[in-house]
Amino acid sequence: MKNSVMAVALILFWSASLHAADHAVVLLYHHVSDKTPASTSVTPAVFRRHLDYLESEGFIVLPLSRVLKALEDGRPVPDRTVSITFDDAYRSVVDQALPMLKQRKYPFTVFVNTDAIDRQYRSYMGWDDLRRLLDNGAEIGNHSHTHAHLARRLEGETEQQWRARVEQDIEFAGRRLLKKLGVQAHMFAYPYGEHTAELREIVDGLGYMGIAQQSGAVGYGFNRLAVPRFPMATNHADMDRFAVSVNSRPLPVIDVASGPAVQVAGETSQYQLAFTLLAGDYHSSSLSCYSSDGEKLELRREGDRISVGLPDWGSGRQKINCTAPSLTENGEYYWYSHLWLIKEPDGNWYTE
Ligand SMILES: [Zn+2]
Repeated sequence: MKNSVMAVALILFWSASLHAADHAVVLLYHHVSDKTPASTSVTPAVFRRHLDYLESEGFIVLPLSRVLKALEDGRPVPDRTVSITFDDAYRSVVDQALPMLKQRKYPFTVFVNTDAIDRQYRSYMGWDDLRRLLDNGAEIGNHSHTHAHLARRLEGETEQQWRARVEQDIEFAGRRLLKKLGVQAHMFAYPYGEHTAELREIVDGLGYMGIAQQSGAVGYGFNRLAVPRFPMATNHADMDRFAVSVNSRPLPVIDVASGPAVQVAGETSQYQLAFTLLAGDYHSSSLSCYSSDGEKLELRREGDRISVGLPDWGSGRQKINCTAPSLTENGEYYWYSHLWLIKEPDGNWYTE
């Protein structure tokens, strides 16, 4: 009896989408409010438009952990699958976003930096709010305890001391989530989206998947320590951009060479981004790469090996986005993004 109920549920689930897909898109929000900084906020009206678009265009919203598990195992997900995530557990998520998500029965994931909750900061949720979210289709991920720039070593800190501090920060947050919510988190979102090979190794060693902030779709064979998400903010979240984001696909690149993840402003042009582009359903001749500022970058091609000249960019988190239009789906793009952390010209870290 139980099996037949499950079988019917599965059939209903699959018939909801005409096709299965080998990829999904993850959206990243912070505040849903018109009173918080535009760079990390969408207004409630914009958020509603996003959800309306997903609903009217037949998108399937699934929990991030389930989507990643399926794609990691090489199992298909429904066509047009999207996961919705929020970083930092801001109060506006429970006040503004929750009613809209609940109305549509959309699941979502909240990555929690636990110290801000313990300290009961005004713009953050409390533990009771998080329990309410859990009762309403949310899953909870780890976003560290302190929300520090974890890739950075403190002054005078040895590599070993840095490792110990970062491990402790992540593990402590994990223990708080378990104690206060009964949740064993398996996904870790890097604070500020900042990650390096050394930090990814720590996250991997602690048994987490690493969730990042460079844009792009997630597909089979994705990097489980640098899962891409599309950041959404009102100052660059018009509906055209939203549509391009949720309809994007992973650009299959291999053998990525990108120089050091941490560089110094003014010294970057000596490096290049290079990758091998696998064949696929896209116009490889129309591949374009852009800097974070939207500058179109020069490409050099040798067969299927592509080299991108890095711009002379300033300090901060800098990304290059490469896109190629689909051959078969008008208006859909294959997408790859790469992140560097660029220090000030004097070698100091940039400030937030
Ligand atoms: Zn954060």
